[in-house]
Amino acid sequence: MPRPIQALIHTAALTHNLARARAAAPDARVWAVVKANAYGHGIENVFQAFRGADGFALLDLEEAKRLRALDWRGPILLLEGCFEPRDLELCSRLDLWHVVHREAQIDWLAAHKTQLPHRVFLKLNSGMNRLGFTPQAFRSAWVRLNALPQVDEISFMTHFADADGPRGIEHQLKCFLEATADLQGERSLSNSAAALRLAGDDPQVRADWVRPGIMTYGSAPDYPEHDIAHWDLQPTMTLRSQLIAVQHLQGGDTVGYGSTFTAEQPMRIGIVACGYADGYPRHAGTGTPVLVEGVRTRTLGRVSMDMLAVDLTPVPAAQCGAEVTLWGKGPRGTVLAIDEVARAAGTLGYELMCAVAPRVPVLAAA
Ligand SMILES: *Cc1c(COP(=O)(O)O)cnc(C)c1O
Repeated sequence: MPRPIQALIHTAALTHNLARARAAAPDARVWAVVKANAYGHGIENVFQAFRGADGFALLDLEEAKRLRALDWRGPILLLEGCFEPRDLELCSRLDLWHVVHREAQIDWLAAHKTQLPHRVFLKLNSGMNRLGFTPQAFRSAWVRLNALPQVDEISFMTHFADADGPRGIEHQLKCFLEATADLQGERSLSNSAAALRLAGDDPQVRADWVRPGIMTYGSAPDYPEHDIAHWDLQPTMTLRSQLIAVQHLQGGDTVGYGSTFTAEQPMRIGIVACGYADGYPRHAGTGTPVLVEGVRTRTLGRVSMDMLAVDLTPVPAAQCGAEVTLWGKGPRGTVLAIDEVARAAGTLGYELMCAVAPRVPVLAAA
């Protein structure tokens, strides 16, 4: 028997969550963001569920090739644009739309020979200070692009730093609206947090395209302020394993490396075939939520490379072979949101889903 750990990808949940993104931004088109191998889910595993999207956004050229190999003929947007001049050849060959965020990318386009002019998204740095032209440089970048025979339609985008938090997007939205005020072209601003929290009330935030990522993978972008139940999102990935040993502790006994957990009284604990080499976060300390046979309990002590320990007090009947849900969907309709586990480990659902290790078999499920 193979080691019992598996990651299940829930196709129906992916479809549901994408529909939630559409509903959050009515009459905007939707980029399904599938960078980082579809946030760790596998592009091939999400493709059917997401093919109702208007396009796919990603940043790795190899992933763009994989989407075309699945026979996706619709738009694909490279969110970081080209990394070197010859990437433009692939854009021409596979008809990829690409972000233009710095001057050199315009130089490369000007020198590129193509039959088919490229659709580009000119990116404004409206305050996040990651990618994009400053408001001062934006206009001249547009003038240069607009004069190139290699360039077809020019669209405009920016990215929000605080759509999930109290600072909000007002300052960035204002900057974007000013920089693009008299320019013709489609616009794209919103990630998941902006789509869920702000796009419904403001057509300028919805704009022509929204770019939901994390929400479509069943994680709330503004957890813990809101959880997936609040946003009506469903887990799309379950990390599950089994108990491979049961131990009976006496008061004073300790668990795992560093003996960081000490039993106060006699208790049963279970050892789960899942550790940090599977992508489970090593920083999840005692008390991280976990389901055993669908019953909520907690981890104990340090996570080791291949194993972790769980408290069996709430599940006295659990034996070796009992099903353990590290996150996602448990038996009998139970759910452990990835956001809860992430928070206990001082990280985000994003990081956990992207970090599931290659040694974990990934299976498509209903
Ligand atoms: C990753 C990314 C998104 C999606 O962000 P989520 O927070 O996952 O919704 C949108 N736009 C850009 C430019 C991105 O890099």
